[in-house]
Amino acid sequence: MAQAEVATINGERTRESDRLAALSATGILDSEPEASFDAITRLCADYFKADTVFLGFADESRLWIKSAWGEPVRELPRRGSIFELVLAANGPVIVPDILEDPRFRDNGLALRRLEARSFAAVPIRCCEGQVLGELVIINSHPRRSMARDELRMLENLAELASNQVELRYLRQNGRPRDSRPPSQPQHAVPIWPQPADLRAALERHEFELFYQPEVELATHQIVGLEALIRWRHPERGLVPPMDFIPAAEESGLILPIGDWGLAEVCSQIRQWTREDHSHSALRVCVNLSARQFSRDGLADHVEALLSRYGIASRQLGLEMTESSLMSDTRAAFDVLNDLRRLGVSLLMDDFGTGYSSLNYLHSFPFDVLKIDRSFVTRMTEGQQALQIVKTIIELARALGMDVVAEGVETREQHALLRDLGCRYGQGFLFSRPISADATTELLRLPGRIMPDHMLVSQLT
Ligand code: C2E
Ligand code: MG
Ligand code: MG
Repeated sequence: MAQAEVATINGERTRESDRLAALSATGILDSEPEASFDAITRLCADYFKADTVFLGFADESRLWIKSAWGEPVRELPRRGSIFELVLAANGPVIVPDILEDPRFRDNGLALRRLEARSFAAVPIRCCEGQVLGELVIINSHPRRSMARDELRMLENLAELASNQVELRYLRQNGRPRDSRPPSQPQHAVPIWPQPADLRAALERHEFELFYQPEVELATHQIVGLEALIRWRHPERGLVPPMDFIPAAEESGLILPIGDWGLAEVCSQIRQWTREDHSHSALRVCVNLSARQFSRDGLADHVEALLSRYGIASRQLGLEMTESSLMSDTRAAFDVLNDLRRLGVSLLMDDFGTGYSSLNYLHSFPFDVLKIDRSFVTRMTEGQQALQIVKTIIELARALGMDVVAEGVETREQHALLRDLGCRYGQGFLFSRPISADATTELLRLPGRIMPDHMLVSQLT
């Protein structure tokens, strides 16, 4: 029987105890299910039109189902189950027709309970490679074997589950709990800037928008721009957003600052379109903070700006991170749909850094997914990050979304991303964020195509 084989052959016993140790380190069996797991099973069920999909992790005796789509399943006996097959194969297992398969003549009780006729299962691994669980698709009728594309999709979805397990492990064990000295309060208000400094900066028009191009990787054509705020401080010089946006958020002054930014972008779009009508094809994106997002009437406000500046809604994009949607997801859902109806593009920023990005991605109407810079940076360093990027690209494709890779700094990253099917990129390789005047110059390039010599690798 598969169980006995797994436990005895070639030191498998040690491997099995390593597996159990890795499983227990995740704490996954004792905790609430992750919302992202539900997103994965739902996505999988949609894609494969399956009767049942489940995602489970196996200890010595049972397969604990952490998310099931279709027929509710909480646990299955491990012995004689699909998990044993996956473990023995150390990889995907596809059985097009169980009734015809000799491995299921005498066992497969677990499956019979689900009235399965066919299934496919792929392993979910920890970062050391041990199989912790599996993602399983079950159908009550026999199905043809899987096409290569389908198998890759299934593996990608399992990889996403693996990534969630990894993030969870990091969250629990990998990060210093709190590196601040104990006397310092958790949310210390920064000494600078105080709300009065921010208010004064607004009155004195010290904020400025810089722009960074978004480029089509295959052609180097500039297809969009991201507006990034700067504070031109009379003494401190050009202050980056991370030094004052958190204080602006804390004090609520992000609302007037954000209003200024939105109006400024619309005015700039009008200016560029007037200069050259072909620039109306560009999408200029603005970052939104949670507070702007949860305020009533955002869609009305955006609509009024579009009409005041006479620009088309497709010329404007709004970027938000998952955390900005977290506080009130129901309201976020309504606002996003209102914005979507207007026709502005919605971009999920920094994708991959949140713990439940997947969940939002599936239920919110985003057009574009921006892969967080941290993955792009690590992509050339090892298989793990490369696989994450690959998975995100596949996932976006399955959901009909465009992908923009953030933080492209080298030609190697550029080539890899293009080969992986990522269509757009943004990063220092193409241009750092630059002033509006410098951007106007950049847009004058014939066809808005950046010649090869303008691409400057930031790392060797
Ligand atoms: P973000 O929206 O993810 O913007 C991308 C950030 O990555 C920018 O930093 C950009 O300069 C930087 N970046 C782009 N390409 C590369 C690269 O190749 N290498 C490296 N190392 N960095 C790269 P920036 O301008 O400092 O902005 C930081 C964050 O501040 C933004 O992250 C965004 O979350 C926030 N932010 C910027 N402008 C605004 C704004 O107007 N409103 C709000 N609410 N937030 C803003
Ligand atoms: Mg952004
Ligand atoms: Mg970003």
